[in-house]
Amino acid sequence: MTTLVNSADSHVVEPLDLWVRRLPEHLRPRAPRIEEADGRWLFLVEGSPPRKMGASADADKENSATGFRAGGSDPDVRAQDLDEDGVWGEVLYPTIALFGFVIPDPELRWATARAYNDWLAETFTAASKRFAGAALIPVQEPDEAVREIERVARLGLRSVMLPMQAPADAPYNSDRYDPVWAAAQAHGMPVSFHVGTGANPVTERGGGGAVINYVEVGLGAQRTLAYLAASGVLERFPDLHVVMVECGAGWLSWLLERMDEAFEEHEQWVKPKLAEPPSFYVRRQGHVTFGNDAAGVVNRDFTGVEPLLWASDYPHPEGTWPHTQETLDRIFATVDPDERRRITYETTARLYGLEAPVGAST
Ligand code: MN
Repeated sequence: MTTLVNSADSHVVEPLDLWVRRLPEHLRPRAPRIEEADGRWLFLVEGSPPRKMGASADADKENSATGFRAGGSDPDVRAQDLDEDGVWGEVLYPTIALFGFVIPDPELRWATARAYNDWLAETFTAASKRFAGAALIPVQEPDEAVREIERVARLGLRSVMLPMQAPADAPYNSDRYDPVWAAAQAHGMPVSFHVGTGANPVTERGGGGAVINYVEVGLGAQRTLAYLAASGVLERFPDLHVVMVECGAGWLSWLLERMDEAFEEHEQWVKPKLAEPPSFYVRRQGHVTFGNDAAGVVNRDFTGVEPLLWASDYPHPEGTWPHTQETLDRIFATVDPDERRRITYETTARLYGLEAPVGAST
């Protein structure tokens, strides 16, 4: 029998002309857009290197340039794919807009973010309660970030996505972000940090680069979670939930021990003096998403079950679709069914409002 699950990390695939159509006219020539070069489609976002798209320029630009399944952009196709795979709800992250955080010009950056948030609300949010959209919220201008959080809350988006890598001049222990944490907390919107955002994820091009870069971007989750726990953000905003997305889970136990060791053994240098060790706040308010991470599941007695959120990463090829149920049966073969249900469904349902109707099955 199929057991309903929620995915805490899935992706939409934006129409390639989304920003060319939606940005204010004077910004359209600089919009994130697709262009052909040397027989391949390139996606151009100011501030990021050009990105090769999945297909060659011979392919139909509108339908297959990204190489992803149609459910990436069509809510109805997507719902059918979820039904086939036993997935009830999903937290939706972008694909192209992941690079929007690093657009240097504030006017273009905010116009890009607002256009994405509008499109997400008009398409997936409007189509079904099964889709919990994460809004793109740049953080370089905290006052503007608060205004956009208020706006997307009215549009029905259910999470706030900030860049994993904070701006260089303002790390996440800066109190300039307090209004951002307060706004997210007030609306009950989890704040998420997706792997590879806020900085160019390709830093090594020499030997081992593909593997090294994959490791490097994952380390960002450890840094961000340490900043939020050790600096007292989680203590000062006790109803705020923070989610490290697509970074796996096996590292979490190491981070908890490492932070607490510093907090206790280097006590004379520690400030602020939190009421509890840093691990306490992560176990209460921190979460990590994973798809197929045996170490993270094995370590649940140490980390607690609450931080663990399973995710499919649909429609990305490394995700579990259409084999989600087999994958879960394998990962959770020795796990208590109640714990499995919390990790694969209940915690995500509570954080993001992804409760399936009574009696729902797919
Ligand atoms: Mn993802």
